[in-house]
Amino acid sequence: MKQYKNPKLRSLYESLLTMQESPLYAHRKEHNYLPVLGEGNENANIMFIGEAPGQKEAETGRPFVGAAGKMLDELLAGIGLKREDVFISNIINDRPPQNRDPQPAEIALYSPVLAQLIRIIKPNVVATLGRFSMQYMLEKCKLPESGQTITTLHGNILPVTVSYGTLHLIPLYHPAVALYNSNMKKVLQKDFEVLKQFS
Ligand code: URA
Repeated sequence: MKQYKNPKLRSLYESLLTMQESPLYAHRKEHNYLPVLGEGNENANIMFIGEAPGQKEAETGRPFVGAAGKMLDELLAGIGLKREDVFISNIINDRPPQNRDPQPAEIALYSPVLAQLIRIIKPNVVATLGRFSMQYMLEKCKLPESGQTITTLHGNILPVTVSYGTLHLIPLYHPAVALYNSNMKKVLQKDFEVLKQFS
């Protein structure tokens, strides 16, 4: 059972544990997987939102602990940050079968969890990792950039007014794209530099 200091995070995690209405719940139980709410600094300035837990993540209940996670750690280290300095979550909290893309209905079902997570942590920056979380956040924040591609938007700072102040939305490529592509790794390293001013 994951430990959170903030009781609101604890109860959000408990609601995930019993989320039987999710089409991914049966798959979770069948494989003895855990839901992944996220982890890191519960008062972080910077929150990362990836795609969905993979096998290692679902086995451990922790986000980004596989190969893409190592890349994320490396990118963070490049700007002097550790994963403990930021909060890391995903657009959906259960592993889709065979690591397929999250479906629109799944994103819609889990989105209140993400919305609640943002309200609890109150980050200054939400850095999306990959196109699914980017597209969701652009739509959710009703930004005019909604519908534009990650190729156009990566590394941009998009300010949004939210209930607790200004949130800076920063679309980034998913760290997995850098695993076998050194040019993409350079792009990600450069984009991560944008985060420095908020750390
Ligand atoms: N990829 C993601 O998008 N999220 C994880 O937690 C792990 C890999």
